[in-house]
Amino acid sequence: MAKFKRILLKLSGESLQGSQGYGIDRTRLGEYAAQIKEISELGVQVGIVIGGGNIFRGLSGAASGLDRVKGDQMGMLATVINSLALSSALKSVGVKARVMTAVRMEPIGEFYNKWAAIEALERGEVVIMSCGTGQPYFTTDTGSSLRGIEIEADVMLKGTRVDGVYTADPEKDPTATRFDKITYDEVLARGLRVMDATATLMCKENHLPIQVFNMDKPGNLRRVIDGEAVGTFVY
Ligand code: UDP
Repeated sequence: MAKFKRILLKLSGESLQGSQGYGIDRTRLGEYAAQIKEISELGVQVGIVIGGGNIFRGLSGAASGLDRVKGDQMGMLATVINSLALSSALKSVGVKARVMTAVRMEPIGEFYNKWAAIEALERGEVVIMSCGTGQPYFTTDTGSSLRGIEIEADVMLKGTRVDGVYTADPEKDPTATRFDKITYDEVLARGLRVMDATATLMCKENHLPIQVFNMDKPGNLRRVIDGEAVGTFVY
């Protein structure tokens, strides 16, 4: 029995670049599609929000002199590119997936609305909700909190390239230790960068728990769904 009936899976754009350092790594994309197929076939309803950091981030655009709002719009378009790639990879392994966009751009994607998303999920389709929130100055972490709450997901599964939430950045500090579970308040008080504070606060206020886990290890998504203690639970 799957632990969760409906999930919001947040994937980072950066992970999608694999070892290439930029763009979309086909192997990584294929691994993600295989992991998603596995849980979708268990009957889990899967909503996905994917980042765009492998292609463009508004903040780095602003740092190099671009207008911040235009930079963020470029970032949102990057999430559409990743969403299209993922939907295509899912299709090629036989999983029906649709891309919705928070900014109107038919026929690239269907304009997002909560009820159409839920109907598709209930039919067993994977729904990829792109453009984050559709607004500048936000991130796809906030976009995934928002969509997770809207689609009434049981949990947000934040797939990252580390094994969970640590006391410090484990890639920089070898003495860092991992939490099995941690409260939203402690994440905020310790300034842990699980997600940005806006996203964490939204989850807290709307009672959406977050499971942070390493999505780059094939099979981990299934383990989370099976209820294994993989990663860190934020509640
Ligand atoms: N973005 C935005 N509004 C949103 C979501 C994303 O403006 O609601 C832009 C922002 O510029 C951000 C970029 O899209 O830097 C890519 O998203 P993000 O950095 O969250 O991607 P990730 O780090 O997950 O790859």
